[in-house]
Amino acid sequence: PKLSQYRGRFAPSPTGPLHFGSLLAAVASYLDARAHQGTWLIRIEDLDPPREQAGASRAILAALASHGLYSDQPVLYQSQRLAAYESILRKLESKGLIYHCSCNRNRLATLGRVYDRHCLHTPPAAGDSVAWRIKLPQPEQTVRFDDAIQGPQVQTPASDFGDFILKRKDGLHAYQLAVVADDIYQGITHVVRGSDLLEVSARQQLLFQLLGETAPSWAHIPVINNRQGQKLSKQNHAPALDLNAPRDNLYHALRILGQAPPESLLHSSADAVLHWGQANWSLAKVPKTMAQTDPLFSH
Ligand code: GLU
Ligand code: ZN
Repeated sequence: PKLSQYRGRFAPSPTGPLHFGSLLAAVASYLDARAHQGTWLIRIEDLDPPREQAGASRAILAALASHGLYSDQPVLYQSQRLAAYESILRKLESKGLIYHCSCNRNRLATLGRVYDRHCLHTPPAAGDSVAWRIKLPQPEQTVRFDDAIQGPQVQTPASDFGDFILKRKDGLHAYQLAVVADDIYQGITHVVRGSDLLEVSARQQLLFQLLGETAPSWAHIPVINNRQGQKLSKQNHAPALDLNAPRDNLYHALRILGQAPPESLLHSSADAVLHWGQANWSLAKVPKTMAQTDPLFSH
């Protein structure tokens, strides 16, 4: 039996192969879970078929496995969870917390980042194609949380994001809805992920609250940059990981995560590196930002 209630997860979207930036998030979430004698889960966020790449889910799982990273429970696929997302929408609807929006791209483009609630005040005609938006009950009230790496965060819905979309016009559920539904379903207590998602955490925390659930604690690791100063991601064609070098990949991940692994590990095995990481893991040592581009990963 597990010694603690800690439950963490790594939740990649299958838009391409695992790249070094996502390995960092996988390793950080895995080691933080292990260091707490917790459970670590892999969840495939295959929610948006048009953005997905055939075979990417399998490739990501294989890449994680080659680094010794296995889910403690069966991998959850978001594509299998659509009925659960619908039932959460119905729950929010019964509380009067969502509304239809038929605004088109052109109209939305004139608004900036906060939706003006046009469709709340002038509901779409029957038969219009519609998205569902959250109706934030107190948009002027600040949302706060203390990120374990990035420190205190504060956002104000009324000026920072407004009534965001939970289900798109094309019928696909939005990431914000699915991620919260699944973190609740899987009993996630700790989210460790890339700081590119720091900005959306306040939205997710609000959804937890509106659903009567406790939000997980958040830790956002720095996102690695390539030489052009862009974050390493599938979108800007970050190089895929060399799956024949899991030991070196893990060693460099630990180094970038501020854990100062001894160089002697470079003569050991991937397993030994992961084991060292587990025994010596300190979230407090993870840097807030990646000021310097690491020449090793800026091909
Ligand atoms: N699926 C998201 C992504 O790959 C991450 C979700 C999360 O960690 O909350 O960017
Ligand atoms: Zn609208």
